[in-house]
Amino acid sequence: MTQFYGKTKICYGEDSLETLEHVPAKQAFIVTDPFMVKVGFADRVKSHLDRAGIPHHTFDGVEPDPSLEVVTKGAKLFLRDEADLIIALGGGSPIDAAKAISFFAHKARTDKPKPTLVAIPTTAGTGSEVTAISVVTDKVNEVKIPLNDELLIPDMAILDPRFTRSLPSHVTAATGMDVLTHAIEAYTSRQANAFTSIYAKYAMRYVFEYLHRAYVNGDDMEARSQMLVGSCMAGMAFNNSGLGITHSVAHSLGGIFHIPHGLANAVLLPHAIRFNSFDAGIRYQEIARMLGMPAETVEEGVESLIKAVIELNESMGIPTQVRGLKIEEKAYRDHMDVVAKNVLEDICTEGNPRRPSHGDVKLLLEQCW
Ligand SMILES: [Zn+2]
Repeated sequence: MTQFYGKTKICYGEDSLETLEHVPAKQAFIVTDPFMVKVGFADRVKSHLDRAGIPHHTFDGVEPDPSLEVVTKGAKLFLRDEADLIIALGGGSPIDAAKAISFFAHKARTDKPKPTLVAIPTTAGTGSEVTAISVVTDKVNEVKIPLNDELLIPDMAILDPRFTRSLPSHVTAATGMDVLTHAIEAYTSRQANAFTSIYAKYAMRYVFEYLHRAYVNGDDMEARSQMLVGSCMAGMAFNNSGLGITHSVAHSLGGIFHIPHGLANAVLLPHAIRFNSFDAGIRYQEIARMLGMPAETVEEGVESLIKAVIELNESMGIPTQVRGLKIEEKAYRDHMDVVAKNVLEDICTEGNPRRPSHGDVKLLLEQCW
């Protein structure tokens, strides 16, 4: 059986935040981080709740890579407030935290309906506003706990480009390349289907058309808006299709060398395309054709796509090799076996079109250096 699941109501545009005034709720609980409060973004959300007469409480304790401790604390406060609406405001971390808080609070309060979960992303981005995934970190035992459950999918996503306007250009670049990686990996995944492919294709188009514009001019609201839509579409795709080895390697290198997720994906993506080109060449050729690149043959399509990704990276100051990320060569080589092991165990490798061996992954890591 093939299936596609998409339940989130998506509202987008510069007036989309107003929709908060029409969400039926008695008590709201806003999950965010201290930065969102400092720059006044949380106040924007609150003003709409005030206008609708919905009482609210703000939990701004979310740190990057939200911990189990923070999620537990948030769930307790949510239950104490007897809230029925959770609003996630921020990048991937507050959204992941809010999803987990909603999940645990619902499990602890089964006699009441599941709280309504609204996600407002402030980067374009993770696509977390429409996915069933949340990663919580057990900081005591130093392990990441990936949650994957349909209950985690937000009921509503609000894509307001005004929240991404002030993002620094390097963050715009890295998070935007994460979108492209989601879309390309979803399109070439072993679990791709007709529906995921449509979302993935449009997301790629949007990135190639609008990411560089958003990078050079953060106030380009059309570009900001379309990147949020592209990010959301890529999320719809990979939530159903899974991802691939670019993400598996980025997860491991990111954990060891503390490289931002989007930046790691950006550097690795062209190498992963070449790595997979024997198994997914036709899919890469299709992408190149769709984007109007030379793609008469499979080989030409693959080369065109690799070149386009590298050029997009270079136009935003992103290096083409891992050594450009200020990692020491010895440390990188010393970790190759561990990284290869992690990659083979990573859930994203299941979607990868090529079934790699430990040695294959080490070769890929060699090429990425
Ligand atoms: Zn990603």
